[in-house]
Amino acid sequence: MLLSALAFADASTVVDGRLSPDSAIGPGVPAEVARTLEVREVGYVGFDGRHHRGRIVCARSRCRDLSDLFDTLEKSGFPLRSVAPVADFGGSDSSSMAHDNTYCFAWRGMWGGGTPSNHSRGLAIDINPMENPAFHRGFTVPPGARHDLAIPGTLSDTSLAVRFLRHRGWHWGAHWRRVQDWQHFETNP
Ligand SMILES: [Zn+2]
Repeated sequence: MLLSALAFADASTVVDGRLSPDSAIGPGVPAEVARTLEVREVGYVGFDGRHHRGRIVCARSRCRDLSDLFDTLEKSGFPLRSVAPVADFGGSDSSSMAHDNTYCFAWRGMWGGGTPSNHSRGLAIDINPMENPAFHRGFTVPPGARHDLAIPGTLSDTSLAVRFLRHRGWHWGAHWRRVQDWQHFETNP
């Protein structure tokens, strides 16, 4: 699948960092979790206007939703900064967010609680975190992010990504009471 995708990529396509499927999931992930995950190659339009190939690690049961989402966004020209596994950032979701990276699976907990995040099962996606920060108890995450609906790559209630994922049954975090998480969508297995 990887080779055929590369064969179709034209010379001007930018290919994001590459790791083997195992290392894209990353170390320290229990086998019973890792076996429910899949690594998918996806296309997107960058902020540079060029076509990119990136990869997303997601729960196998919902990878179809995300493949279709990236296809839809690529056709619409909605820009994404980077689409790479958190493992490309040394497993640090903070570093991934600081690089404005769009990702799904991250092996971590949930802010301020012991309940595992849906990211740790590949059932949540964060889109352009620097354009779509989370607001939590007076803090902005990632630090330094600006939220301006006029900036390309920013999500709003009428955005294609929001409408598409809601139609597929995903929940958007922008208007939650505890945390207003504009980058975050999550779903059930
Ligand atoms: Zn998230």
